[in-house]
Amino acid sequence: MGLLEGKRILVAGVTMDSSIGFAVAKVAQEQGAEVLISNFGRALSITRRIAKRLPVEPVVLELDVTDQTHLDGLADQVREHVDSLDGVVHSIAFGNPETLLGGKFLDGPWDDVAQALQVSAYSLKSLTMAAKPLMAPGSSVVGLTFDATVSWPAYDWMGVAKAGLESTSRYLARYLGPEGIRVNLVSAGPLRTIAAKAIPGFSDLEDLWTTRSPLGWDNTDQEPTAKAVCALLSDFFPATTGEIVHVDGGFHATGA
Ligand code: NAP
Repeated sequence: MGLLEGKRILVAGVTMDSSIGFAVAKVAQEQGAEVLISNFGRALSITRRIAKRLPVEPVVLELDVTDQTHLDGLADQVREHVDSLDGVVHSIAFGNPETLLGGKFLDGPWDDVAQALQVSAYSLKSLTMAAKPLMAPGSSVVGLTFDATVSWPAYDWMGVAKAGLESTSRYLARYLGPEGIRVNLVSAGPLRTIAAKAIPGFSDLEDLWTTRSPLGWDNTDQEPTAKAVCALLSDFFPATTGEIVHVDGGFHATGA
């Protein structure tokens, strides 16, 4: 029997088969879950095509996490397919690479910073609350971060957004714990996805991981990250919330 047998899971943020969300959807299906995926805007048609590459073609929903109408309609959209959710995965981030990333920290304009914070951090709260009417005690919310306890080359304002995401997840854990809903993050090492490749200087981070990770690090393998997300979605972490699980080859535990 799979780890997620009988569970219904929404994975928000799948564009390509390189997306971490795609790997999560795949592992979740392999572990017995019924999966719905979402994306937004023009890339939605790509998501619909890519969805066919999963073991079972999932329902694809439209969800822009900055659009209140989409958020308000999410529960009804989901109910057209399943009557409840046991898990929600937030695999979403955006920061304008031309103004905010790759060494642009000191000049990053507020409007772009505000957008990055809304899409990458605040949206964990928005998505969770939009899905909450569908979630019973025992449900699990999992998001993806890149260690925001320190500064990095190139990551700049996305690092600030991730610090916001990490804090948002702890507050959600505080407020939703009494209702039996767990909220956790997986902190992944650098993975070659569209979002990552758009970061000018991303290869500097990749080089760091190549030389420093005790376990080594394959930046083309999304599966270890996806497996950790699925473990947190499962019933095997019943007393864990507000946690950040590192899937980074052990990099975070090294000093140099
Ligand atoms: P990805 O494939 O580009 O996924 C990011 C997703 O966010 C895309 O599907 C993107 O849609 C979506 N998105 C952006 N703005 C949105 C909005 N307003 N509403 C709804 N969805 C929106 O890249 P990824 O690397 O797998 O990223 C997934 C998560 O993992 C992100 O939180 C990222 O920060 C995190 N993470 C990534 C790495 C890494 O090295 N790749 C490491 C640690 C953590 P569009 O493609 O249509 O813009």
